[in-house]
Amino acid sequence: MSEMISKYLSYEDYQCHHCKKTPFPLFTEYRTALFEAFDNIVESLKIKVIVTSGWRCEEHQEELRKAGYKAAMFSPHFFSAIDFLPDPKSGVSVSEVVKFIEENYPKMRLGYRAYNYRFIHMDNVYNVPEEDLNKLLDKYPFEVKEHVKRAWRPGVTW
Ligand SMILES: [Zn+2]
Repeated sequence: MSEMISKYLSYEDYQCHHCKKTPFPLFTEYRTALFEAFDNIVESLKIKVIVTSGWRCEEHQEELRKAGYKAAMFSPHFFSAIDFLPDPKSGVSVSEVVKFIEENYPKMRLGYRAYNYRFIHMDNVYNVPEEDLNKLLDKYPFEVKEHVKRAWRPGVTW
Protein backbone atom coordinates (compact mmCIF):
# COMPACT_ATOMS: atom_id res chain seq x y z
CA MET A 1 0.00 0.00 0.00
CA SER A 2 1.23 3.43 -0.94
CA GLU A 3 2.01 6.05 1.67
CA MET A 4 -0.67 8.65 2.13
CA ILE A 5 -0.52 12.44 1.88
CA SER A 6 -3.99 12.79 3.34
CA LYS A 7 -6.74 10.37 4.27
CA TYR A 8 -7.65 9.58 0.65
CA LEU A 9 -4.76 10.90 -1.41
CA SER A 10 -1.62 8.81 -1.82
CA TYR A 11 1.87 10.01 -2.70
CA GLU A 12 1.73 7.80 -5.75
CA ASP A 13 -1.37 9.62 -6.99
CA TYR A 14 -0.07 13.10 -6.32
CA GLN A 15 3.56 12.83 -7.39
CA CYS A 16 4.72 14.01 -10.82
CA HIS A 17 4.16 11.19 -13.32
CA HIS A 18 7.49 11.91 -14.96
CA CYS A 19 10.02 12.36 -12.12
CA LYS A 20 8.00 10.92 -9.18
CA LYS A 21 8.71 14.05 -7.17
CA THR A 22 6.34 16.00 -4.99
CA PRO A 23 6.76 19.73 -4.38
CA PHE A 24 8.78 20.99 -1.46
CA PRO A 25 7.54 21.96 1.03
CA LEU A 26 4.53 19.76 0.36
CA PHE A 27 2.19 21.00 3.09
CA THR A 28 1.84 24.67 2.29
CA GLU A 29 -1.36 26.31 3.45
CA TYR A 30 -2.93 26.26 -0.02
CA ARG A 31 -1.98 22.64 -0.77
CA THR A 32 -3.21 21.44 2.61
CA ALA A 33 -6.53 23.18 1.89
CA LEU A 34 -6.77 21.36 -1.43
CA PHE A 35 -6.02 17.97 0.17
CA GLU A 36 -8.64 18.61 2.86
CA ALA A 37 -11.26 19.53 0.28
CA PHE A 38 -10.39 16.40 -1.72
CA ASP A 39 -10.78 14.19 1.37
CA ASN A 40 -14.09 15.79 2.22
CA ILE A 41 -15.43 15.25 -1.31
CA VAL A 42 -14.48 11.57 -1.29
CA GLU A 43 -15.85 11.01 2.21
CA SER A 44 -19.08 13.01 1.84
CA LEU A 45 -20.05 11.42 -1.47
CA LYS A 46 -18.86 7.99 -0.33
CA ILE A 47 -17.04 7.44 -3.59
CA LYS A 48 -13.83 5.86 -4.71
CA VAL A 49 -11.90 8.15 -7.01
CA ILE A 50 -9.33 7.69 -9.72
CA VAL A 51 -6.69 10.41 -9.65
CA THR A 52 -5.30 11.06 -13.13
CA SER A 53 -2.94 13.92 -12.31
CA GLY A 54 -1.60 15.68 -9.25
CA TRP A 55 1.55 17.70 -9.08
CA ARG A 56 3.56 18.28 -12.25
CA CYS A 57 7.04 19.68 -12.64
CA GLU A 58 7.68 22.17 -15.44
CA GLU A 59 9.51 19.58 -17.50
CA HIS A 60 6.54 17.23 -17.43
CA GLN A 61 4.18 20.01 -18.49
CA GLU A 62 6.45 20.76 -21.43
CA GLU A 63 6.42 17.06 -22.40
CA LEU A 64 2.63 17.03 -22.37
CA ARG A 65 2.54 20.07 -24.61
CA LYS A 66 4.99 18.54 -27.04
CA ALA A 67 2.98 15.32 -27.08
CA GLY A 68 0.03 17.35 -28.35
CA TYR A 69 -2.08 17.55 -25.21
CA LYS A 70 -4.11 20.73 -24.76
CA ALA A 71 -1.98 21.65 -21.77
CA ALA A 72 -1.35 25.20 -20.60
CA MET A 73 2.19 26.51 -20.75
CA PHE A 74 1.96 27.58 -17.12
CA SER A 75 -0.11 25.07 -15.20
CA PRO A 76 -2.01 25.14 -11.91
CA HIS A 77 -0.49 21.67 -11.48
CA PHE A 78 2.84 23.39 -10.71
CA PHE A 79 1.21 24.47 -7.45
CA SER A 80 -2.03 22.97 -6.24
CA ALA A 81 -4.29 20.99 -8.55
CA ILE A 82 -5.81 17.52 -8.78
CA ASP A 83 -7.48 15.87 -11.76
CA PHE A 84 -9.78 13.03 -10.80
CA LEU A 85 -12.99 11.19 -11.56
CA PRO A 86 -15.36 9.10 -9.49
CA ASP A 87 -14.77 5.40 -9.99
CA PRO A 88 -17.62 4.32 -12.31
CA LYS A 89 -18.43 1.58 -9.78
CA SER A 90 -19.28 4.26 -7.22
CA GLY A 91 -22.46 5.07 -9.12
CA VAL A 92 -21.86 8.81 -8.85
CA SER A 93 -21.39 10.88 -12.00
CA VAL A 94 -18.83 13.59 -12.71
CA SER A 95 -21.72 16.12 -12.78
CA GLU A 96 -22.80 15.10 -9.30
CA VAL A 97 -19.28 15.53 -7.98
CA VAL A 98 -19.03 18.95 -9.66
CA LYS A 99 -22.34 19.97 -8.09
CA PHE A 100 -21.08 18.99 -4.64
CA ILE A 101 -17.85 20.95 -5.11
CA GLU A 102 -19.64 24.04 -6.42
CA GLU A 103 -22.01 24.01 -3.45
CA ASN A 104 -19.41 23.38 -0.78
CA TYR A 105 -16.29 24.98 -2.27
CA PRO A 106 -17.58 27.80 -4.50
CA LYS A 107 -14.10 29.30 -4.83
CA MET A 108 -12.47 26.22 -6.37
CA ARG A 109 -11.44 26.59 -9.98
CA LEU A 110 -13.05 23.69 -11.84
CA GLY A 111 -12.51 22.28 -15.30
CA TYR A 112 -14.93 19.67 -16.64
CA ARG A 113 -16.93 21.00 -19.62
CA ALA A 114 -13.74 21.41 -21.64
CA TYR A 115 -12.95 17.74 -20.90
CA ASN A 116 -16.44 16.53 -21.82
CA TYR A 117 -17.10 15.50 -18.22
CA ARG A 118 -14.50 12.73 -18.45
CA PHE A 119 -12.74 14.05 -15.36
CA ILE A 120 -12.62 17.05 -13.04
CA HIS A 121 -9.71 19.42 -12.77
CA MET A 122 -9.85 21.08 -9.33
CA ASP A 123 -7.45 23.74 -8.08
CA ASN A 124 -7.17 26.58 -5.59
CA VAL A 125 -4.23 28.40 -7.14
CA TYR A 126 -5.79 31.80 -6.33
CA ASN A 127 -4.44 31.09 -2.82
CA VAL A 128 -0.81 30.77 -3.90
CA PRO A 129 1.14 33.65 -2.34
CA GLU A 130 2.25 36.24 -4.92
CA GLU A 131 5.89 35.65 -4.01
CA ASP A 132 5.74 31.88 -4.66
CA LEU A 133 3.83 32.44 -7.87
CA ASN A 134 6.24 35.03 -9.23
CA LYS A 135 9.27 32.87 -8.47
CA LEU A 136 8.15 30.56 -11.28
CA LEU A 137 6.12 32.94 -13.39
CA ASP A 138 8.92 35.45 -13.87
CA LYS A 139 10.64 33.03 -16.26
CA TYR A 140 7.69 32.99 -18.65
CA PRO A 141 6.69 35.39 -21.43
CA PHE A 142 4.65 38.49 -20.66
CA GLU A 143 1.44 37.10 -22.26
CA VAL A 144 1.60 34.06 -19.98
CA LYS A 145 1.91 36.28 -16.91
CA GLU A 146 -1.01 38.42 -18.04
CA HIS A 147 -3.12 35.34 -18.62
CA VAL A 148 -2.33 33.82 -15.23
CA LYS A 149 -3.10 37.05 -13.37
CA ARG A 150 -6.43 37.23 -15.19
CA ALA A 151 -7.49 33.59 -15.05
CA TRP A 152 -6.26 32.36 -11.67
CA ARG A 153 -9.23 33.78 -9.81
CA PRO A 154 -11.69 32.03 -7.47
CA GLY A 155 -14.79 30.41 -8.93
CA VAL A 156 -13.61 30.14 -12.53
CA THR A 157 -15.00 27.08 -14.36
CA TRP A 158 -14.44 25.82 -17.85
ZN1 LIG B 1 8.46 15.72 -13.21
